[in-house]
Amino acid sequence: MTFEDYIKAGKIAGEVRENVRKTDWVGKTVYEICEYVESEIRKRGAKCAFPVNTSINEVAAHYTAEPNDSKIITNDDLVKIDLGAQINGYIADTAVTVCYNPEFDSLVHGAESALSNAMSMMKVGVKSSDIGRTIEKTIKDLGLLPIANLSGHSLEQYTIHAGKSVPNIWSIGSFTFQNEQAFACEPFVTTGEGLGFVHEGKIKNIFALASRKRTKDKKADEMLDYIWTNFNLLPFALRWLLNKWEEKEARNILEILIKKKAIHAYPVLVEGNGQRVAQAEHTFIPNENGATITTNP
Ligand code: MN
Ligand code: MN
Repeated sequence: MTFEDYIKAGKIAGEVRENVRKTDWVGKTVYEICEYVESEIRKRGAKCAFPVNTSINEVAAHYTAEPNDSKIITNDDLVKIDLGAQINGYIADTAVTVCYNPEFDSLVHGAESALSNAMSMMKVGVKSSDIGRTIEKTIKDLGLLPIANLSGHSLEQYTIHAGKSVPNIWSIGSFTFQNEQAFACEPFVTTGEGLGFVHEGKIKNIFALASRKRTKDKKADEMLDYIWTNFNLLPFALRWLLNKWEEKEARNILEILIKKKAIHAYPVLVEGNGQRVAQAEHTFIPNENGATITTNP
């Protein structure tokens, strides 16, 4: 584990997240948000670990802007802006929820409190089930619901979901946090009327390499090589292919690669009862006395 790279990536992601929090996004398009945030990450000397997610209202996660996406943020929207920076594949994953209608402040507060309570109790030796219990209790005490089937995760070089889950509810099957691995903790909160589960929606606009096996199609193989060289196994968006391919052609080749199972497409995740969802997220490395929260500015 390269502690230094985790710290560098975390500092960049944390700074950008705080700028995002302070910005008024009403009237801006999701495309403008994604392009701004991604350029801020690159400007600071990191690469994007995944396309910026701008998931609105009942969409909990996994929406990124299409090329020139014209969807505009209104003052009634609750927007999860989830961003990732990486240095040599060492990832900082962090999120903030912005909202302009005070009616939804409680959801944002619920996600932030749950994250902060989880971080306060973190140290080497803590059980993942106890983190889940704390997140669940914090959220339910506020009269809200955690999303049970979304969770934080362990991180490895060039791997965002590295096998271990940091749960948002109490759950059986637990591991003990150690100091040789980085993790993301990300409570998702919905209203008391929510289902507390997400299901997959129709839209898929985040992709990742699934196999480097040759396809016997020259153009498809060329795109596979480009993806491996530029994004490794990390997620990417169609927007990120357009400096090399024209949009229509990129879509066609991507479609072929998905059919051949060389590329995986992630569906958006939507709250089961259509209720709004808020999220907060930090990346951290546990230590004997607590945790280094890499994405704290
Ligand atoms: Mn994230
Ligand atoms: Mn995450």
